Amino acid sequence: MQSPVDDRRPQSFDRVLSSMCTEPHPAARRAAERYLPSNPGDPATYGAVADLEAEAVAGLAAVTGLADALGGDAGDAGGAGSGAADAPDGAADALSAHGYVTSGGTESNVQAVRSARDRSDAADPAVVAPESAHFSFHKAAAVLDVDLRTVPTDDDGRADVDAVAAALDEDAALVVAVAGSTEYGRVDPVPALADIAADAGVPLHVDAAWGGFYLPFSGHEWGFAVDGVDTVTIDPHKVGRAAVPAGGLLARDRAALDALAVETPYLETASQASLTGTRSGAGVASAAAAMDALWPDGYREEYGRAMDLATWFADELRGRGLRVVDPELPLVAFDLPTDDFETLRGRGWRLSRTTAGEARVVVMPHVTRESLAAFLDDVDDLS
Ligand SMILES: *Cc1c(COP(=O)(O)O)cnc(C)c1O
Repeated sequence: MQSPVDDRRPQSFDRVLSSMCTEPHPAARRAAERYLPSNPGDPATYGAVADLEAEAVAGLAAVTGLADALGGDAGDAGGAGSGAADAPDGAADALSAHGYVTSGGTESNVQAVRSARDRSDAADPAVVAPESAHFSFHKAAAVLDVDLRTVPTDDDGRADVDAVAAALDEDAALVVAVAGSTEYGRVDPVPALADIAADAGVPLHVDAAWGGFYLPFSGHEWGFAVDGVDTVTIDPHKVGRAAVPAGGLLARDRAALDALAVETPYLETASQASLTGTRSGAGVASAAAAMDALWPDGYREEYGRAMDLATWFADELRGRGLRVVDPELPLVAFDLPTDDFETLRGRGWRLSRTTAGEARVVVMPHVTRESLAAFLDDVDDLS
């Protein structure tokens, strides 16, 4: 018998312009379905998905530069050209102590803050972040009872290094850099932030939840290749094209993850570093499958396609007399009067706004030149 749920369909991606999630890669979709009934939170029982998690972490270590930074055995785990699943078991095992597949960027950021708080001897631990930091840091601060000091960004939406330096004192436990901001796709000056964090004796966390799968190809300095980067958030379920939920948290020093581990009395494994207990086998398997299929060539091609499209779209908007924020990664923010914004939403365009009120279009893999041309036709119809 058909249930009412069978009769419904999820939204189509045709007019989705603001989401940071997308259609999963076909291999990721297949893997998600196959591993739906498994729980990587209990690796002694669900060994197959636990192996896939080690492969996913090796893949994320390749993408973020951690494998190269650690060198040796770990460095072999996912060098350029080798798929995550090609990693020799030993290397994947060595890397698996440096990260895990989270439920998303929020969990990764909460855990990065938690780890820094617990490794700090500050009396009143504080996190210093640019105001462009994702709202998950506000959740982290509330849940973990740390002080979140947000500092203004420069005129172009990137962390102001002097302002961050000025906010550091003996209570500082973590500095946050954003590599691909949610509203404008801006990349903070990670090396300069790493320097001032190191001077203050504080770890640096880089939030590349959205940008992480573009940045290896964009020429930015952002990941573990930068000395002093301690932890990184990167989400397979965004640009990585895995099924939701699949986030990633990686640490240069395994002590950062050890700080998160609690004992697990009723499981066969001794401890667990993840925030959630039962976890999605679908997310873990699809993350491994997506990176196996796409790292590095598929992601490189997508970066080129999306960036070209974002540049074209920005030019088209400017040609219509609209003010556009120059895209640094494939995300275009532009001025659009509120009435027009509402009219376009009414025509089915899934569009969102920045805090300052600009419309924002995130050029995810499902966003095509055809869909943006159709959107521009509707923009032309407004007047
Ligand atoms: C999306 C995003 C997050 C939150 O990730 P979720 O997977 O939605 O929990 C955190 N930081 C940045 C920069 C993001 O773009």
